[in-house]
Amino acid sequence: MRNTFVSLSLFLCVSPCQAAESALLSPNQKSCSELLKQDEVFRAHDFFRKGAESQTEVSGHGWTQHLYFGRVGLGGPHPEFLKTSLVPFFRSVNEALSPAFRIPESTEVVLAANQPSRYQDECGRIQLGISPGLVASDESSVGWSEDTVAVLTHEYAHQIFEENAVGRKEKIDSAELRAELSNIDLYRRYENIENLKLYLESRKVTPEFQLSFMLMETKIRSDLEKVSFDHYTSFLQYLWMPLNELFADAVVVALAHDSAAQSRAIERISGGSARSRDFGPKVLAADWRTAEIFPHDVYTPVRSYLWNSVLRKNLTSDASVILKQVYEAIWEELGFLTKEVGHLDGPSILGYFGKTGRLKQMNARLIQRIARRLPNASRRRIGK
Ligand SMILES: [Zn+2]
Repeated sequence: MRNTFVSLSLFLCVSPCQAAESALLSPNQKSCSELLKQDEVFRAHDFFRKGAESQTEVSGHGWTQHLYFGRVGLGGPHPEFLKTSLVPFFRSVNEALSPAFRIPESTEVVLAANQPSRYQDECGRIQLGISPGLVASDESSVGWSEDTVAVLTHEYAHQIFEENAVGRKEKIDSAELRAELSNIDLYRRYENIENLKLYLESRKVTPEFQLSFMLMETKIRSDLEKVSFDHYTSFLQYLWMPLNELFADAVVVALAHDSAAQSRAIERISGGSARSRDFGPKVLAADWRTAEIFPHDVYTPVRSYLWNSVLRKNLTSDASVILKQVYEAIWEELGFLTKEVGHLDGPSILGYFGKTGRLKQMNARLIQRIARRLPNASRRRIGK
């Protein structure tokens, strides 16, 4: 397979879907609010959040969420954007997901000029890129399109994925996955501080704060030299991200009840093809082959199964229950894959996935895991 997974090693996650590289929560870790109190990196995070342009609280049945809104770079919609667009968005998405998922207690949306949209860190910062087709860059006309909804839903789904990973340690069967997740806090702190550096450049801070921030960064970098960064990135890029991206796309499609909600948004924004992320076409696991594989392309047959055998016939009110079963199946598969290849280095994992038929097996196996959890899904086994 030419170039199979090679691009993964560079990790190309084109706009609007930067995968959640910084996204992993270890199962025994503290919640974001606890981290904000106890960890210096997260306290710095909180410092920037307090400087957000505007904030508010939104609530619904059994959940309350604090929303922060900020901007990086020039231009972009004015702060009213929070009330006019973000509040109704989060109210609606949270209501739809809350029957089956834990809703994050805080989320921050930062509009960023000349940046891709991405989920940035596990305390819930979503960077929403300002580009034609997404929010308008003209302050006088705050744009809000179905593409914006798709992109924001996708990035927020990464946060939902992680938020619901907290406290899962007891539920994870795979000792290998438990060990993997327990070793990554340092990397998360590193990634957080790298993200925060960007904000340091755009905010006025005291010299004392700047100095303490620099000392913190130096300490983390020195700690990082003692551990294997390669191993961490291999795990995230090859095992975690394709599954996390699958989930994020599935949330978009399920809530919109539109098989092309995600792919159409990407195509309109990027101008390129996102056919492998369209849930509509019938793609059998047994037929699946692709010359170039990105994290978003690994599970195209699973996407096809989800729409054609499950979501198409269900109303959106059932979406959270279905998505929760998909989520559980994904964790099951992540445990399996970690046991199989988690101990290997990046090139060896590439070799594993590049082997003829391997992607077909991976898709068929995950489809079966989902189908077992959804007994009412179509009897037609697309994965076979
Ligand atoms: Zn993504």
